[in-house]
Amino acid sequence: MGLQSVFRAVIMGAPGSGKGTVSSRIAQSFGLKHLSSGDMLRANIEAKTDLGLLMKSCIDQGQLVPDDVISRLILSSLRGLEKTSWLLDGFPRTVAQAEALDCVYDVDSVINLDVPFQTIRERLTSRWVHLPSGRVYNIDFNPPKKPGLDDVTGEPLVQRDDDSPETVSRRLKDYERQTQPVLEYYRSKGVLETFSGTETNKIWPHVHTFLSRKIPGHKQAMGKA
Ligand code: AMP
Repeated sequence: MGLQSVFRAVIMGAPGSGKGTVSSRIAQSFGLKHLSSGDMLRANIEAKTDLGLLMKSCIDQGQLVPDDVISRLILSSLRGLEKTSWLLDGFPRTVAQAEALDCVYDVDSVINLDVPFQTIRERLTSRWVHLPSGRVYNIDFNPPKKPGLDDVTGEPLVQRDDDSPETVSRRLKDYERQTQPVLEYYRSKGVLETFSGTETNKIWPHVHTFLSRKIPGHKQAMGKA
């Protein structure tokens, strides 16, 4: 990292890998500015910007937005943050995006959360809802009193399309196909750091220890995991 005092990181992880939780813990513990490409795009849709309007259908269909569009959006948000340490979340998703970022900034570390797909599948498919009321149950943390039935009305519970085993499997396969080359790209640059595990709370202390060593002036944060 040389003499610079800023730290630039990327976080990678499949949907359901705990990336959101780990990102906010990193931002909080180490004071990194958290920039999420998905949040930025959703903010553009909300604000009905030209870009938001153009990209809405892409995003609604779960397709990636074009590399040049997202790269421009992210790089322009990073402008003015030359002296700020940041954590990019959701970007880069392709090698072309990683190369676009590389033209402007050296990334110090890429944190890769490696959670077995079977664990993610179990996590994401354990949500059941009672549609008329919107009551949500979770088989692991908050199960209904009688399996498959709403506690109040006794009516059947259903899974959201997004949480169905078929959709979850497709999302995981898409993630793997799209991001494997990006992981390889960063591995070959020597900045990829993979953290494997099945529970966010067990992965987090390792991420914390790693970043405590990497981030200048953050030795005092050690032990606070
Ligand atoms: P996310 O919240 O990260 O899952 O992003 C939501 C949606 O925004 C994705 O399904 C894509 O349509 C789009 N998106 C977010 N980040 C990117 C990216 N780096 N490249 C292309 N599309 C993206």
